[in-house]
Amino acid sequence: MAFREIMVSYTAVDDRVHAAVLHELLLRQTPTVEQLARVTGLPAIAVDDAMGRLRERGAVVGDPTGGVVAAYPLSGVPTSHVVALDVAVAWANCAVDALAVPAMVGRPGTISSQCTLCSGSITIDVEGTVVRSREPAGVVVAYGGLTDCRDRPALVRSCPFVNFFCGEAHAAQWQPPTTWSGRFLSLDQAARLAVSNFHHVIEVYQRFRPEQ
Ligand SMILES: [Zn+2]
Repeated sequence: MAFREIMVSYTAVDDRVHAAVLHELLLRQTPTVEQLARVTGLPAIAVDDAMGRLRERGAVVGDPTGGVVAAYPLSGVPTSHVVALDVAVAWANCAVDALAVPAMVGRPGTISSQCTLCSGSITIDVEGTVVRSREPAGVVVAYGGLTDCRDRPALVRSCPFVNFFCGEAHAAQWQPPTTWSGRFLSLDQAARLAVSNFHHVIEVYQRFRPEQ
């Protein structure tokens, strides 16, 4: 009984800290323990403990200096996948991560990225799981080849495995990393998959996000 109560309270603290980390990254701010303690109203020691558990779970990716590199779907360092919302402009770790951000925030968003082959601009308007508009019209997403995002080297500027292409022709010409064993998704499939993959993170953020 006592053990169960402790587990429940750990979970609630972790979720509050997790949501606060996501919120700081959304605003392109550095989620230090001090800042997270201020935002959540939790003692710094509790925040520090929660951060340890979040890093262990892979929800937060740290660097050796104790900083935060990423909290999926958001990146703490610039990437080639930028998501603009009315409240913030954030960096996402990969194409699928970018597609999850508007649903997480609960606002429509515009993703700006590039074709992995030709570097041509790609612009996608997303609301929840629905792609409202896309430019160019034939955008596809390379997806897969990772057993776990934690296997990816931290501090990559974008994931080499999960990316946008301007169309099927350029997707077909792409020479993937030798370890890639993924597939191509239509943008609509990728948008639905993103929200489904990030279901838990979306729920945590919407429930525990700090006041704007
Ligand atoms: Zn292209």
